[in-house]
Amino acid sequence: MASGPAQTVLVAGGGIGGVATANRLRRRLDRRHRVVLVNRDPDFTFAASYLWVMTGARRPEQVTRPLTRLQRRGIDVVIGDVTDLDPTTRTLTVGGRRLTGDHLVVSLGADWVSDRVPGLAEHGHTFATLPGAQRLARELEHIETGRIVVVTVAPLYKCPAAPYEAALLIDAGLRSRGVRDRVQVAVRSAEPAPMPVAGPTVSAAVQQLLAARGIDYQSGRQITAAEPGTARFGDTSEDADLLVYMPAIVAPPVIANSALAAADGWIHADRGTLATAFDGVYAIGDNTQIGLGIGKPLPRAGVFAHGQALVVADTISATITGKPAPSGFDGRGGCFIETGAGRAAYGAGDFYADPAPAVALHNPARRWHWGKAAFELQVMRRWL
Ligand SMILES: Cc1cc2nc3c(=O)[nH]c(=O)nc-3n(C[C@H](O)[C@H](O)[C@H](O)COP(=O)(O)OP(=O)(O)OC[C@H]3O[C@@H](n4cnc5c(N)ncnc54)[C@H](O)[C@@H]3O)c2cc1C
Repeated sequence: MASGPAQTVLVAGGGIGGVATANRLRRRLDRRHRVVLVNRDPDFTFAASYLWVMTGARRPEQVTRPLTRLQRRGIDVVIGDVTDLDPTTRTLTVGGRRLTGDHLVVSLGADWVSDRVPGLAEHGHTFATLPGAQRLARELEHIETGRIVVVTVAPLYKCPAAPYEAALLIDAGLRSRGVRDRVQVAVRSAEPAPMPVAGPTVSAAVQQLLAARGIDYQSGRQITAAEPGTARFGDTSEDADLLVYMPAIVAPPVIANSALAAADGWIHADRGTLATAFDGVYAIGDNTQIGLGIGKPLPRAGVFAHGQALVVADTISATITGKPAPSGFDGRGGCFIETGAGRAAYGAGDFYADPAPAVALHNPARRWHWGKAAFELQVMRRWL
């Protein structure tokens, strides 16, 4: 390696993007250079497995690891809230302490909005957080009759497949308990079709998966209020003995209030290099808004946060060691849709293709289920 001055790389966020970045940097850089990861919570939790917590296939501790485990690999871990982010000096304020880096990677994710729909947080259940998935699991264990309604609160949320995957897994769980004929399952989406960014063929294929399982689907149904046993959609309402929701998201305030944010609150990083307008500052994952030719953003998904993390870590290590820069992030990725009984579908392709993303949905098969389990194993055992 070239023998330049010792450098510090700050990584803001200890989720998928941050942990992948820190690990990759640590492998690429010699120990003179510091890699410092900052995260609010002491634990990493793997969100893609929350739906397995919902079904009872995973216990919470199986999808949780202390971030301090990264210290064994030579990554400095700082636990605390980033309350200010100054991209001109690459400085984070954490618990009153100022941390400055020669390079800064921002991967602070997206925040859930809990109060957009009156009554929803009180009368609904969500699989989008670990405690929420645990509470929902307890409800699903006992339901014998009635109607379950899965809703998306807004067209923009994390992981476009997750609510559809949730409905299919709920259906599978009811079948395995022998009560499916007594419990109706419906999905009402705020978006115009399932996973619209993946194109009409994938949307139609997901609708077919739902229809084949007797799950009633209606799109463009914006929930406006929740009451005990009822979901309101403007002037109409539906019975919902169990109301399950995917919340809307907003940019974390520390980003929205910083010079990094565009008018919409998100970071509009370069779609290939993930560079921002500030020297040495990169942004990856859910806190970015990467526009696609079809006028929709790149979906918020761990697979993209991970792919972007590798590009940014390699770019920074190439800058430090004087090696050529790697090629940029290519917009390729895929996402598993668990359908129950040990099977999953897999939607994958090139999200940067012109004029529209070129994405295909592979039929449910055991190998896609094992693909998701293998990714979980890689994250939980090899990253942490
Ligand atoms: C139920 C569910 C299922 C999903 N399934 C899949 C899937 O199958 N495949 C897939 O690709 N994606 C999936 N996703 C999406 C995936 O989890 C996210 O896209 C991914 O985690 C984004 O990574 P990130 O690093 O950008 O953000 P995150 O992983 O959210 O990490 C952000 C981190 O920043 C921390 N943070 C935020 N603000 C601050 C602050 N001010 N100070 C300090 N720390 C802060 C947070 O605590 C968090 O640890 C799923 C998401 C959900 C909710």
